[in-house]
Amino acid sequence: MYEPFLDMTIDQIESWLRETDAALLETLWAAANAVRHDYVGDEVHLRGLLEISNRCVRACAYCGLRAENRQVQRYRMEMDEIMVCARQARQFGYGTVVLQAGEDYSISREWMTNLVIQIKRETGLAVTLSLGERPDADLTAWRAAGADRYLLRFETSDRELYERIHPPTHNQTVSDRIAILRRLKELGYEAGSGVMIGIPGQTYRSVAKDIALFRELDLDMIGVGPFIAHPETPLGRQEMAFAPENEQVPNTEDMTYKVLALTRLACPEANLPSTTALATLNLARGRELGLSRGANVVMPNLTPPQYRALYEIYPAKACIQESAGDCHACMKARIRSLGRLPGLGPGGRKRRATSA
Ligand code: SAH
Repeated sequence: MYEPFLDMTIDQIESWLRETDAALLETLWAAANAVRHDYVGDEVHLRGLLEISNRCVRACAYCGLRAENRQVQRYRMEMDEIMVCARQARQFGYGTVVLQAGEDYSISREWMTNLVIQIKRETGLAVTLSLGERPDADLTAWRAAGADRYLLRFETSDRELYERIHPPTHNQTVSDRIAILRRLKELGYEAGSGVMIGIPGQTYRSVAKDIALFRELDLDMIGVGPFIAHPETPLGRQEMAFAPENEQVPNTEDMTYKVLALTRLACPEANLPSTTALATLNLARGRELGLSRGANVVMPNLTPPQYRALYEIYPAKACIQESAGDCHACMKARIRSLGRLPGLGPGGRKRRATSA
C-alpha cells in the first residue's frame, strides 16, 4: 500500500516538513513504518556505543566538547578499558561496537589501528568509528585494519550555515564533511551521516535539501536528532542568528519525527537509529516513537559510568546515570514492547536487488 517516495521533490519534502494536520501526519508515520518493515524488516539492530574520549581540537558552535570549553574535565579511555566494554557488547549479543570521540589526536593512527585489530580478532563484532574529520591516511589505515563503518554527520547541507557552525581549526583551511563522506565510501566503509534538527539559522528549505542529499549520497546509515542548546557554546548562548520566524525549523520532537519519517521514505534501505537526543526530549516514549516512525537501530550506551556525564555534547543527555547493564535491559524491553525483535548479527546495510 505504501511506496517509498524515491522521487519526492525538494518542494514536496518541504511541504511535509511544514505539515501540521494531525491526520495527515498519521499517514506519514504509517508510510514510514510500512516502508521500514518492507525494506529493513522488524529487527532492531543494537549498536553498543562507547564514548572513548571527550578531548577535542575543534570549535563546533553547537557541541559541549569544543576545545574552548574549559568547564569540562577531559578523559580518554585506555585500550584495556575499551576491550572490557567490547567483550561486554559481545556478551549482550550486540552485533556492533561504535567507538565515538571528540576529534582527539592523542588517539593516534597506530593506536586506533591496533585497537580495531584487537576488537575484530577477539570479538568478531562489526566496528563503527565516529572520530571526526580525521586525515585520509588515518581513515585508510583503519579501514585496512578492519573497521567496517564510519559515522560523520554533515549537520546541514546549507554551506553558509555549515561554515558558521564549523569554524576552521587545527590548521584546517576548510571543513568539508560531504567530501569526506564520499571518500569513506570509496575506501569501502559503510558511510553514516545525518543532521541536527533546529539549529539556529536552519531553514525548512535547507532541511528538505538535507534529506535530498541523504538520498544523493546513498548513505548506509543516517542519524537525525534535535539540536539541544549547550550553555557553554556560541549556539547555546544564542550568539548566532535564527532564521526569520516562518523559515526557522524548530528543534522539537515532532519536527524530528517528520525528518526521520521522510528520511525513511527517501532512503528506504538505510539503517536509521532512534537517537539518544530524541530520547532526551521524551524519556518515556521518544525511543519507541522513533522506532515506530522509520527507525530500525538503537545505540545502547556501553560507556563506563565514570565517563558518561563527562561526554556532555549537550546537557541532560538521557541515560547518563545508568550502567551498561541498565541500558541493555531497558532497550530490550522497549524493543519487545513494540512487538519487534533485537537484531542478530552485524546488521549491515541490506541492498534490495529489485524494487518492491
Ligand atoms: N567528534 C565526532 C562525534 C561528535 S558527537 C564528530 O564530530 O563526528 C556526534 C553528534 O552529536 C554530532 O555529529 C552532532 O550531530 C551531535 N551533537 C553535538 N552537539 C549537539 C547538540 N548540542 N545537540 C544535539 N546534538 C548534538
